[in-house]
Amino acid sequence: AEAELIRAQRFEALAMLAGGLSHDLRNLLQPLLLAGDSLLDYQDDPRLARLGSLVRDCGKRGLEMVQSMLSFARGARRAEQVRLGALTNALELLLQGSVPRAVAMDMTLDDPELTFEGNHTELQQCLLNLCLNAIQAMPDGGRLQITSSRCALPDDFFLDDEEPQEGEYLRLTVADTGHGMDEDTLERLFEPFFTTKQTGTGLGLLSCKRIVASHGGVMRVESEPGEGTAFHLYLPLALQDEADGAGSGEDWLQGEA
Ligand code: ADP
Repeated sequence: AEAELIRAQRFEALAMLAGGLSHDLRNLLQPLLLAGDSLLDYQDDPRLARLGSLVRDCGKRGLEMVQSMLSFARGARRAEQVRLGALTNALELLLQGSVPRAVAMDMTLDDPELTFEGNHTELQQCLLNLCLNAIQAMPDGGRLQITSSRCALPDDFFLDDEEPQEGEYLRLTVADTGHGMDEDTLERLFEPFFTTKQTGTGLGLLSCKRIVASHGGVMRVESEPGEGTAFHLYLPLALQDEADGAGSGEDWLQGEA
């Protein structure tokens, strides 16, 4: 449990640092982006135009990283009633235009009316991250599948060294038939800034993990090179009493553990 505490504290420190940094960086990047845009107006000077698009592209990428850092750093969440169907509807809407024609998407929910305590926006963000990763893993097309079912804890829950929540879990799975991951990637995918992509931030999965943990849940991944990847989110359907506290994500988030 001590190792877990240290890990949580490191994580917390990182989140605070990321929050402060990203806020200041965003303020610096915005005027830079504007400057890049103005340079682009000088179309008859190719050197200036090139400089303009360079400044703008770097600025944009910086802003994306900052955005990821901000959503990762955003700690306190408001608990509300989340309806599974509403969550997946919102996801479908957000994904519109991002699913290439060669990717077939299908959603199979065993109970769209299922309602549980959590944060809609955060979970939506988390699923969106996973879906976009899945799409990026299928440059030649494939199948993106989102499924849900009720289940018990995964067997290896205790590997996380957290107090498990009593009762039933909602298991949400985002699966793709993409390129999968090698051993090294599988080992490192939750590390901050770890990415195998040209323009990746390496913060997407870290932020997913944080969101799921703040819901008192866990994430599991299965991946086979050349076959595909599945991310499973296990979310407890009945959050424990706040006063009880054990394993409730809020404590963990506020670093009071
Ligand atoms: P980013 O997407 O910016 O690289 P993430 O933290 O979301 O950051 O992902 C980290 C890395 O994990 C990715 O660069 C990629 O190598 C790997 N990864 C994540 N999702 C998938 C997936 N569905 N299929 C294959 N690899 C994946």
